[in-house]
Amino acid sequence: MKKRIGIMGGTFDPIHIGHLILAEKAYEELALDEVWFMPSGNPPHKQNREGRASDQQRVEMVRKSIADNPHFRLSTEEMHPDGYTYTYETLERLHKKYPDQTYYFIIGADSLYDFDTWCRPDRICKAASLLVATRNAVPEESLKEQMLYLEEKYKGNFIQLHTPNLEISSQTLRDWIRQGKSVRYYLVDEVYTYIREEGIYRA
Ligand code: ATP
Ligand code: MG
Repeated sequence: MKKRIGIMGGTFDPIHIGHLILAEKAYEELALDEVWFMPSGNPPHKQNREGRASDQQRVEMVRKSIADNPHFRLSTEEMHPDGYTYTYETLERLHKKYPDQTYYFIIGADSLYDFDTWCRPDRICKAASLLVATRNAVPEESLKEQMLYLEEKYKGNFIQLHTPNLEISSQTLRDWIRQGKSVRYYLVDEVYTYIREEGIYRA
């Protein structure tokens, strides 16, 4: 039997409980063996932007968030010294490295509407099934329609997850921190402390 690996890709700037709950629910619903958190690399022009965490800090926040969960893992597969890699390249690389695994790429509904603009959606669909979570009250009808559209266009396997709808985004958390508002409980405790100690998102 092939190992079933969920891939949770994202900027994770910062990683929040929305990401963690989504990954845990995907793990449970699809009976995955592991979920790998894969922070995306930043192209050179997006390094060290004001009000953002560095690559190293984003990785550190992911590490802290998943430390106590035995079926979560950190993967720095997309952290390239010379910038970022495309999702399809990453997934194809994983197939080569670990041929005895099947991959489930986890995305929120907003990413489903961007999917058409990603590089080589056809190759992503060949390399992985797509697990889709509702987000920010995207109407069920519209989500189903978009999944069908992409399924036909790219011959993909799109599976809807039954996750709770958590109104939370990294953008909101960055804004709140900059404004001096509390983001406590939206993040794992260790990450909350780390952000304060490092003074991230203050600028
Ligand atoms: P930003 O606000 O900076 O875009 P984000 O909160 O959307 O950040 P990302 O790192 O962009 O976080 O998200 C990674 C993946 O997790 C995406 O597929 C996104 O759709 C999904 N995701 C993030 N937050 C949620 C949430 N609250 N519910 C469902 N999916 C989510
Ligand atoms: Mg996002």
